[in-house]
Amino acid sequence: MTESHVDAAVRARIEAARRREAERRQQREELAAARTAGVARRHAAKLARQAQTTEGTPMPNSPFRSLPCPGCRAQRTVRKVGKVTVSRVAFDVVRCPQAGCELLWLALPERPGQVAA
Ligand SMILES: [Zn+2]
Repeated sequence: MTESHVDAAVRARIEAARRREAERRQQREELAAARTAGVARRHAAKLARQAQTTEGTPMPNSPFRSLPCPGCRAQRTVRKVGKVTVSRVAFDVVRCPQAGCELLWLALPERPGQVAA
C-alpha cells in the first residue's frame, strides 16, 4: 500500500509535534539547571555573609550588658555583636564570652534610660 498525501501530512504533523515537545523539554531542562546553579550560588553567598556577620566581634560602641546566659545558666557580661529583626521586633544578638560556651542568642535591646541589671 502506498502512502497517500493525507498520510504524509499526518506523519509530518506528528513529527513536528514531537520536535516541538523535544525542544520544550530541552528548554525546561536548561532552565532547571540554571535555576539549580543559581540557588547553589545564592546559598553559598548567604553562608559567606553569615560567616562574616557572626564572627562575634562586638559592634563598635556597644555597651556591656549583664545578662543570664541560657547556655551556662550564669550571669555574663555580654556585648551586642549584631542586630536582627524577627516579625518586626528588633533584637540584639549577644554572645557569651565564656570560652567553651560562646552561645549566640537574642536579647531585647536596652531602651534608653533602662537600668542595666
Ligand atoms: Zn554561656
